[in-house]
Amino acid sequence: MIINNLSKENTILNNFLSEIRCKDIQKDSMRFRTNIQRIGEITAYELSKTLTYELKTVTTPLGTKDISVPKNDIVLCSILRAGLPLHYGILNYFDNAENAFISAYRKHTDEKNFEIEVEYFASPSIDGKTLILADPMLATGQSLVSVFEGVKKYGTPKEIHVACVIGSEEGISYIEKYFPKDTKLWIATIDKELNEHGYIVPGLGDAGDLAFGNKI
Ligand code: URA
Repeated sequence: MIINNLSKENTILNNFLSEIRCKDIQKDSMRFRTNIQRIGEITAYELSKTLTYELKTVTTPLGTKDISVPKNDIVLCSILRAGLPLHYGILNYFDNAENAFISAYRKHTDEKNFEIEVEYFASPSIDGKTLILADPMLATGQSLVSVFEGVKKYGTPKEIHVACVIGSEEGISYIEKYFPKDTKLWIATIDKELNEHGYIVPGLGDAGDLAFGNKI
């Protein structure tokens, strides 16, 4: 797996990361969603540097200009519900991307242990296309792997990108075992630890709840 840690250099991305992590600022769910979307936009921009380009001739009012534009057929696949703001951020830049949605949640067998339940799938064919799997929190990595296993029935993608906001070192090592070696991971930042409930520490808490409200 090719790991692109987007906060390795200092950029404005760090402002958005500091706000989604801050326990006071993150309580404003509209701002939380906006910041995740902005991180999605930065991710899309960075990822776009690795796409395949073709020349397109554009006619201006005064002449013509050849412009190199991406030609990839992109399928953007996100995990409900926490993935939605990241999905929208990436989609803001990849205007023509097709979209896939999958539901995955932690079904607890007891206080600390859980299995990933994947129930809902809505996907176009991914055959020969550029697949972007978006999951804001790469904690244990189990949901990403379950979703990847599920999405394979829709075809074999030409290339795979995984887009995340915060990941744990453990989660990254876990998914590396299941994804093809040339998969590109775009991750805004990486934390060291997971707690006993499988949450990233220091992380930010529950991304789905912060974006859309607590669940019962
Ligand atoms: N999902 C979250 O929202 N946060 C974590 O830390 C782990 C999984």
